[in-house]
Amino acid sequence: MPAGTAWDARRIAWLVRRLGAARAAARPTTLSEVERRRDPFRLLVACIISLRTKDEVTAEASARLFARADTPSGVAALPPKTIARLIYPAGFYNTKARQIRAIAGRIARAHGGRVPATRAELLDFAGVGRKTANLVLGLGFAIPAICVDTHVHRISNRLGLVRTRTPEETEAALERALPRRYWIDINDLLVTFGQNVCHPTSPRCSTCPLAERCPRVGVTRSR
Ligand code: SF4
Repeated sequence: MPAGTAWDARRIAWLVRRLGAARAAARPTTLSEVERRRDPFRLLVACIISLRTKDEVTAEASARLFARADTPSGVAALPPKTIARLIYPAGFYNTKARQIRAIAGRIARAHGGRVPATRAELLDFAGVGRKTANLVLGLGFAIPAICVDTHVHRISNRLGLVRTRTPEETEAALERALPRRYWIDINDLLVTFGQNVCHPTSPRCSTCPLAERCPRVGVTRSR
C-alpha cells in the first residue's frame, strides 16, 4: 500500500461516509425490500435464494414465494415442488426449495416459529453458511456481524483494508479493521458499491469517489 493510505479510524470514517453517499445515489440492492422489513425469516430465506443467483432473479423469486407464504409454518406447509416453482429460475432451485422447507419446518417445530438468534443455531441449518448467518444476525437481530460476500471480499482487498484469500479470512480481518458500529452496514454499502462502481472485472476507477485513497490492490484493468 502506498505511504499515507493506512486505514486509521479517521480514514475509515471518511470511507464509510463516501460509501454512504454513493449508496444514496445508487439504485436499490438485491434484498432492499426484504431488508427494509428486517424480518429474520424473510432475510434467511431470501439470502438462501440469492446464493449463485443474479440480484434481479433473487428479488423476483423472493417476492413470489413470500406472496404465497412468509412464515415458517406457512412455508413448511408448501410442497417442495411448489417452492421450487415459485423461486425458479434461482440457481439450484430444487435443492434450495428442499432446504428452505426443511429450515422452515425446524423453525416452526423446534424454535417456536422464531428464527434462532445465535450463529451456532443458524449454521446448524443445512444450506446456511457464515454469510447468511451473519446477514440474519445483523439485519434481523441488530447483532453486530460482518456479512462477507464476493463484493465485500473483493473490494476490501482492493482498498487494502485487508489482505486475505478467502471470505472467512476477510470476515476475521474486517472484524479487526472496522469499529463494531460499522459491522452490520458494511455489507450493504460494499454490495451497492460493487454493483455500481467497483465492478469485478473492470472497476470504474476514473470516476470512483474513493480513488484518492484506494491503492487498487490487484486491479489490472479499469475504466
Ligand atoms: S479506485 Fe477502483 S479499485 Fe479502488 S474502490 Fe474505486 S473502483 Fe474500486
